[in-house]
Amino acid sequence: MRYSQVFSKSSKTAPADAESVNARFLIQGGFVHQEMAGVYTWLPLGLRSLRKVENIIREEMDAIGAQETRMPSLQPKEAWLNTGRWDTTDILFKVPSQTDKEYALGPSHEEIATPLVQDYLISYKDLPLSVYQIATKFRDELRAKSGVMRGREFGMKDLYSFHATQEDLDQYYERVKQAYLKIFARCGVDVKVTLASGGIFSKKLSHEFQIITPAGEDLLIACPKCTYAENIEVATHKAGEACPSCGTELIETKGVEAANIFDLGTRYTGAFGFKVTDEKGEHLPVVMGCYGIGTTRLVGAIVEASHDDKGIIWPKNVAPFQVHIVALGSKDEAVQATTLATAEKLYTELQARGVEVLFDDRMGMSAGEKFGDADLLGMPVRVVVSEKSLKNNSFEVKLRSGGEPIMVPVTEGVAKIAELAT
Ligand code: ATP
Ligand code: MG
Repeated sequence: MRYSQVFSKSSKTAPADAESVNARFLIQGGFVHQEMAGVYTWLPLGLRSLRKVENIIREEMDAIGAQETRMPSLQPKEAWLNTGRWDTTDILFKVPSQTDKEYALGPSHEEIATPLVQDYLISYKDLPLSVYQIATKFRDELRAKSGVMRGREFGMKDLYSFHATQEDLDQYYERVKQAYLKIFARCGVDVKVTLASGGIFSKKLSHEFQIITPAGEDLLIACPKCTYAENIEVATHKAGEACPSCGTELIETKGVEAANIFDLGTRYTGAFGFKVTDEKGEHLPVVMGCYGIGTTRLVGAIVEASHDDKGIIWPKNVAPFQVHIVALGSKDEAVQATTLATAEKLYTELQARGVEVLFDDRMGMSAGEKFGDADLLGMPVRVVVSEKSLKNNSFEVKLRSGGEPIMVPVTEGVAKIAELAT
């Protein structure tokens, strides 16, 4: 993509009221646009990262046999009355209709997923079954702060699984946990898993996946080496003690909840009278699990966990583009024409190899301004094409994650840069 064509370019100054790092860099870099507190437009650059996160999640959900659906945000009040959540959910947006009816704007989808699956399943032989979606959620949060990490409208992957026995649910729950660890590893973030109480959902236990960052709202006792962690409110260990899982000294740290999985038992299936028939014709209660990952929050948490004072440092797999080509202008028209033509050729050839490239082809700007943008936008590999680099028949290549720039001969450029980028 040519940066000159991107309508949502970076701004020179940070937004005055950005209360968090992710809001500051995502807004200033032109990844998202704030519409009002807790509500954002995902702009072309930001949407590319969000889509990558979503696709990683999608691949790992498909790999554990979950089937993708798209459920509605506008939900029947009756279902919410049925589960008892219409009057007890403080964050529920209630939408009045001109016909005197009222609807719920889905903060989650148990009230849809449970009767949906019930509609199709008759026999215990149809179980287990799991369905998921990657879609928009609405929650009337009292305070929408922390940038895209706490929205009133936000993205979530929610998975619902249905089982004939508790043992089967336990096994699947463990498979989802492993799939989640793969997802976070692929997204380039360090995640800790805490045992949490089921909260409003059930008396059963649940697990939270916490990304370690000072911007987190949760205080944790965590192992710096393995995934073990506890929320400090319920912690059975103290900082300085040995990790019960691997023996490393535990530390106190902050985390942001990126995902949460729950054993719901018969909390929702019971409310809808969802039972299946076994081989003897007996009606068995169905047990259920639900598993969420905040997709938009995850993008924000990645920024919180991976940046410096100049901007974002995108992990490879979730960067909007893998390579950022910066072509520098020159007062000498012929030199500028050669520089642009060389950069243009590199841009085309990298793309032909399947490398995703952002090409800063703007002329009439200082090198400082362009490098500032490259640091702010944070693509993993920066390639400078300039009068100076071409005097050495080279490109200047630098990794956003650190290290000195290296000079790569123009003739080897495509192969070397493609290798670094993928
Ligand atoms: P929190 O404690 O942060 O309010 P929650 O426990 O209420 O979150 P869940 O109901 O467990 O959230 O939702 C599943 C996931 O959806 C969370 O782990 C989080 O990643 C994401 N999420 C929840 N609320 C928001 C929000 N307001 N904005 C963005 N993402 C959210
Ligand atoms: Mg939660």
